Amino acid sequence: MKKIAVFCGASSGFNDMYRKKAAELGAFFVENQIAMVYGGGKIGMMGAIADAMLAKKGEVIGVIPHLLRHEEVEHTEVSEMVFSKTMSERKVSISKMVDGYIALAGGFGTLDEIFEALTLGQLGIESKPVGILNTNGFFDPMLQQLDKMVQEGFLKPENKSMLLVGKSIPELINEMYAYKAPKVTKLVNTVGS
Ligand code: AMP
Repeated sequence: MKKIAVFCGASSGFNDMYRKKAAELGAFFVENQIAMVYGGGKIGMMGAIADAMLAKKGEVIGVIPHLLRHEEVEHTEVSEMVFSKTMSERKVSISKMVDGYIALAGGFGTLDEIFEALTLGQLGIESKPVGILNTNGFFDPMLQQLDKMVQEGFLKPENKSMLLVGKSIPELINEMYAYKAPKVTKLVNTVGS
């Protein structure tokens, strides 16, 4: 069984379409025998995808730092919960478990997690696919920022294209299965050198 990490908001957002899309991705995972590793919360987008999968008897593995283990936050129905000492340790545990990463709409936590995965890919420490589901053009401004970073010489075009952008769930998953990591020849990853 494949395992995919999902990074997404602890909030639900103002528009219900985000939670619906999270639940749709959860259903797709179960139908396609994909297990999910995620932040272990029962709130917001995290709760929406976890609940959708658990309702269909999917495999949901939470990885939660002790500091976030409040009754209102921690999901108690997941298939397995792994506890970490710190937020950083949590990301390391997640990365050891999964075959790839997907981000849905979220805030700072989501961006932190997805950009760490991209940074590991850029340095050749990992070669796993990293994708975003661009529901409602949520990530369009972020993608424009990445273009700006390429234009201004801070990001290599081939590294920018490591980030897979899915218009639909099946399209994104297919792109992830077909993903070939760019060759990294040296650890100092500067543009123009
Ligand atoms: P954010 O996008 O800022 O809402 O943060 C959500 C992401 O950060 C999730 O993917 C989680 O892994 C992590 N995270 C942030 N807050 C929490 C929380 N209260 N409980 C569990 N995980 C959280």
